[in-house]
Amino acid sequence: MRIRFHGAAGEVTGSCHEVEAAGRRLLLDCGLIQGGREDERRNREPFPFDPAKIDAVVLSHAHLDHCGRLPLLVQQGFDGPIWTHRATADLLRVMLEDAARLAEADAERAARRRAQGRGVDEDDLTPLFTLSDVQAVLRLVRGLEYRVATTLFPGLVVTLRDAGHILGSASVELVDTSGPAPKTLVYSGDLGPKGTPILRDAEIPPKADLVLLESTYGDRAHRQQAATVDELGRLFHDAWRDGGNVVIPAFAVGRSQELLYWFARHYDDWGLSRWHIFLDSPMAIRVIEAYDRHTDLFDEEARGVWAGKSHPFRLRNLHLCVDQAQSMAINQIRSGAIIIAGSGMCNGGRVRHHLRHQLPYERNHVLFVGYQAQGTLGRRLVDGAPWVRILGYDITVRAQRHTVGGLSAHADQPALARWYAGIGGRTPVVLVHGEEAPRAALSSLLQREYGAHVASAKRDLVRDL
Ligand SMILES: [Zn+2]
Repeated sequence: MRIRFHGAAGEVTGSCHEVEAAGRRLLLDCGLIQGGREDERRNREPFPFDPAKIDAVVLSHAHLDHCGRLPLLVQQGFDGPIWTHRATADLLRVMLEDAARLAEADAERAARRRAQGRGVDEDDLTPLFTLSDVQAVLRLVRGLEYRVATTLFPGLVVTLRDAGHILGSASVELVDTSGPAPKTLVYSGDLGPKGTPILRDAEIPPKADLVLLESTYGDRAHRQQAATVDELGRLFHDAWRDGGNVVIPAFAVGRSQELLYWFARHYDDWGLSRWHIFLDSPMAIRVIEAYDRHTDLFDEEARGVWAGKSHPFRLRNLHLCVDQAQSMAINQIRSGAIIIAGSGMCNGGRVRHHLRHQLPYERNHVLFVGYQAQGTLGRRLVDGAPWVRILGYDITVRAQRHTVGGLSAHADQPALARWYAGIGGRTPVVLVHGEEAPRAALSSLLQREYGAHVASAKRDLVRDL
């Protein structure tokens, strides 16, 4: 088995690892590079391999930084199967169609700007991919169940295990039986934290000869969930006192649904009945439907909440905003609105319009409840930028900003170490999906505590197994 690392090597986006095994070539994930404009330009560069020579893709989950370059892969000649959990297959449609619509709308805007004689980059006139590219991807998708070993090709067996990160998320176990002794590669995908809301906790694979382990939060321990829940409650009470609105940038998949789940569970103690709650994301609304279709994947607590009287997606003061007019109407509200909108890192989507309108006023609050990658608007806001540029406007930031850490969808350092140790032995590790500092911290912990042989993924690193 031979593994090459093409993305999420020293960064957290663009996950893509190539595996040669049993005479086949596979990709583990094929994710979009996200961040600033310069980073995102790299999505248009040719793949560092020939897509036509890839036999299959195994997809860990439906976040765009893991699946968002699939349409380009297919456009450039890939036509093999894309294996993934059946719930991810369901979400993939939502994610990719939404991304294609946004890309097409951006390209149209660029064309209009050019028609007005304004300077426009040539690249911006063509959408990165279109809805028809997405249809071509969806035709190749094959749904799997957790814990069911499936032969992909002779000598190559895959088993998905619940990663507890978002609905349908999986760690991938790939066994090559073509050689004299079977070899097992385990790719963690993105791992959820212990006690992750709605979903079951990450499952630990029984054995591995090599582990590719994510390291997003490899350098920190999350706060206790109970402390985060208290903090959120306090923030909503403070925000009510200040008489403004609350904006929560949130990923459409996972975080938005989790927030509503917490709202349902703490509806009374957080005083939520007096607010108008807006879920301003057509994509998050489509994802809600997917969650409702896969309640069999929920943990026991969540199944109880879904069966109870306050169904998270049907709170009586929850407004689901599908069309743009509903979204724009929110701009007229001076106080009493909780606005959940994407994108999670503020580099696209409707949240930018809300930030533009809400950031200039001190009475408003912005709650960051997810990871903000370097180069994104979200990161600049979290880092305390006194002003930001949004949609061509320079905005002075007077709203109160809060980073609520404990809601992360990623395992923290102790959870990553526990997951690794659970596999047993001193399995060699390659750390992926992490910026430099967290990766270095996790690496020294695994070496010190477990005597693990740890390497860090670099672009074009080759690892034999
Ligand atoms: Zn993810």
